[in-house]
Amino acid sequence: MPVTTAAAAATAPALGPDVDALRRQDPELAEILLAELERQSTGLQLIAAENFTSPAVLTALGSPLANKYAEGYPGARHHGGCEFVDVAERIAVDRAKALFGAEHANVQPHSGSSSVLAAYAALLRPGDTVLAMGLPHGGHLTHGSPANFSGRWFEFVGYGVDAESGLIDYEQILALARAHKPKAVVCGSISYPRHLDYSAFRDIADDVGAYLIADAAHPMGLVAGGAAPSPVPYADVVCATTHKVLRGPRGGMLLCGSDLAERIDRAVFPFTQGGAQMHTIAAKAVAFGEAAAPAFTTYAHKVVANARALAEELTRRGLLITTGGTDTHLLTADTGRFALDARTARGRLAAAGLVLDTCALPHGDVRGLRLGTAAVTTQGMGQEEMTRIAELFAAALHSDAEPGRLRGEVRELVRRFPPYPG
Ligand SMILES: *Cc1c(COP(=O)(O)O)cnc(C)c1O
Repeated sequence: MPVTTAAAAATAPALGPDVDALRRQDPELAEILLAELERQSTGLQLIAAENFTSPAVLTALGSPLANKYAEGYPGARHHGGCEFVDVAERIAVDRAKALFGAEHANVQPHSGSSSVLAAYAALLRPGDTVLAMGLPHGGHLTHGSPANFSGRWFEFVGYGVDAESGLIDYEQILALARAHKPKAVVCGSISYPRHLDYSAFRDIADDVGAYLIADAAHPMGLVAGGAAPSPVPYADVVCATTHKVLRGPRGGMLLCGSDLAERIDRAVFPFTQGGAQMHTIAAKAVAFGEAAAPAFTTYAHKVVANARALAEELTRRGLLITTGGTDTHLLTADTGRFALDARTARGRLAAAGLVLDTCALPHGDVRGLRLGTAAVTTQGMGQEEMTRIAELFAAALHSDAEPGRLRGEVRELVRRFPPYPG
């Protein structure tokens, strides 16, 4: 099979100079890498949890640090030869602390879920009661799904959002906290489009003597750019991913005060993980460095402005946006006047090259669509393009849509905003 298309070849620098060597050695896999690069470079990536990392982050990820075993922490490793990776991890920790104003950072969690597992391991015992957003309302798997360790090992009580407004009802959370006396309250969601009132969550946790765990996997990039309130001053432990709006490598991190530092570190290694992934930690350091630059503040605010514009333009075209808009990078929508079930809608959109997720919606058991603007904003798109995306979106949902023609128009739009300019 021919290895690549013209479009992929034009953007192949994103894969580094070694792609030609890989092509000679393993054309089958080289073709997959190039095909995925082309997929990312020719469609609209609207999945709320995704972004495009910088070439610098990709370089760290593809570096020989990937070879290094480094169990433990800098200066206290179980392996020899850690003199350079120790420095990389110290830099990552220092940058994370400075970026978020935290007393302590642990940058080793392999993913957001691993960071939540470690937070629970540090603060809870199996069988403890935890109050978190219910999964049908936007809670994550790690917030009590019976298919996940969280639901198996802890007693979760779920809070929700108001059926009419779609907004979090803090009175209800306080009432549930008083009734169930949880050991921890978790705030954070995979789909809630509004800012959280961390101070209100802190008051509720204090009212019942519970820990407050903020699972800020989604908004942490906005926090870094000053476009969302920070959970750091309020939560005992903050869990996060580094790959969503924050635009770093796939992975997790934890922030806490000095009082919990040792417990958190031991909960990551040796309790829930073995060797740290030093290439990923180096890439996290690069991403934290990028996020500390003024350009990232501009980026974070633009992400929100784009999400607001997109919500408005989609509303104008008949979609029903939960809570009537957004404060963040993400929005959730009912297909509104198109009256399509979410899976059909997602399929039609995918056929036109608009890639997004379905998600649970608060009213009843309907599913909706969830989309975000982190990736398209990294590509340099602005308000004008949000209007264009909304047009394409509505056109793709029509029963008489022509997916082939729309796919061409999406390709043309994205061609002007390549994620990895040659
Ligand atoms: C994305 C997310 C996670 C999990 O991240 P993974 O890296 O996929 O494990 C956890 N909690 C919330 C709220 C998230 O949005």
